[in-house]
Amino acid sequence: MSVPAGGARELVAILSTAMLGLVLHTGGCSKAGGPTIAAKGDSKTDSNNNNGGSGSPDSNAFLGTGTAAPDPSAPAFAAPGSSASALTSTPGSQPAPASMVSRAIPAARQLPKIDVHTHIGPDSVDRAIALMDRWGIAGCVNLSGMYPGPPRGMLEMQLKAATAARGRIVVFANANFRRVTRDKDYGKAMAADLAESKRLGALGLKIPKGLGLGYPASDGEHLLTVDDRGLDPLFEKAGQLGMPVAIHIGDPKAFWKPATPDNERWDELGAHPEWSFYGQPVPSWADLYAAFERRVARHPKTIFIAVHFGNDPEDPDAVARMLDKYRNFYIDTAARVPEIGRHDAAKMRRFFEKYQDRILFGTDTGVGPTQDEMMYGSNGPNPPTHADEERFFLATWRYFETDDKQFESPTPIQGRWKIDGIGLPESILRKVYFENAARILHWKPPLGADSVPALGAPRRDPQPGSGREQPAPSMPPLP
Ligand SMILES: [Zn+2]
Repeated sequence: MSVPAGGARELVAILSTAMLGLVLHTGGCSKAGGPTIAAKGDSKTDSNNNNGGSGSPDSNAFLGTGTAAPDPSAPAFAAPGSSASALTSTPGSQPAPASMVSRAIPAARQLPKIDVHTHIGPDSVDRAIALMDRWGIAGCVNLSGMYPGPPRGMLEMQLKAATAARGRIVVFANANFRRVTRDKDYGKAMAADLAESKRLGALGLKIPKGLGLGYPASDGEHLLTVDDRGLDPLFEKAGQLGMPVAIHIGDPKAFWKPATPDNERWDELGAHPEWSFYGQPVPSWADLYAAFERRVARHPKTIFIAVHFGNDPEDPDAVARMLDKYRNFYIDTAARVPEIGRHDAAKMRRFFEKYQDRILFGTDTGVGPTQDEMMYGSNGPNPPTHADEERFFLATWRYFETDDKQFESPTPIQGRWKIDGIGLPESILRKVYFENAARILHWKPPLGADSVPALGAPRRDPQPGSGREQPAPSMPPLP
């Protein structure tokens, strides 16, 4: 694959934008994402649209009775397969305060939550805290950490901004992919950046979908492949440092199909035509995923958090195959409740039962300095409203916690279908919402009443200078 005309230029524009602080838009969500591919032409890559990606030879693989593969990480405080009491039995941990409630769900389900997939601008931490308080989210992982050092020290800025959250927001670094065309040993240089990122306080690494879909290879002409050998030192280093890699590869399969009204993602594609990969000189979805699997297989000591439900929410059987095959493979649920909510609810409940130790709750919430710059999983043609926020979180809880049928998804812009809840038991909810993330990140946000204010309190988006800017407490101790 060649770098599309304008690809390098767009990449620079994207990185520049990110470095100006618009990190919200660099995370690799559908919206933000990755580089948009400007060039038209070459349509040879769309031939694999319907082949189901890496395939699912073991149909219904997760319906069997086998147990999930053990966790390769040393559990910090909640062993895989441990009971629901693992969290509350941890010395020093406390149950969520009764005030930390979400609306419209049973009182028994007011459980502590870590959102492992957010994008928070360095000037928007106060707004992020207010949002977390509204929805009973104890801790967030900000995946938009950028990288350390010159010219702008963005990671340093993000880490400093996060300290205002008093231990409730941690940061994943990003890699500086411009090194690929600049540095001969770019993989080693990126690995060194990652070590520095950890020293500064980053807990993990986030790779956006630009890997495979937009970043130039070292020759400056072709696309950098997901399994590029030159990047091996970076992924190896992540494993050595105990830093999980949240990785976005590909995008909804519908983005490889013609952006016409019969495309199931037409509402999104109509609003954002640039999200379409149809006819663009990029790899097929299946080729991307195959390269991704080679990447995961090559680094067995590195934990991969495949975002957006394993990067393949349309095919849970294929995700199950990956989970069965690779012990270092984890998934988050970010921005894909609408997709997984389409599948048979009983089947999805069995999926969550089988892989309950390797599924992480995430939303893909983007927090910018104003309401117009928010993102709840995805965005339509108009700026998101408070009503969008309510629907997004309430429908998310409803999916995981109830057996309700055929209700509106958190992000209807992603498709006009309705979804069915999977009514998970509390023991699994505790793992997915909190314990799994806390275990692999070796991090636990504070759960005391002081740090998790009452939810349902009047909406109070802080104004600049409103008093949230208090002396910066130190970050929680790092592993
Ligand atoms: Zn994202």
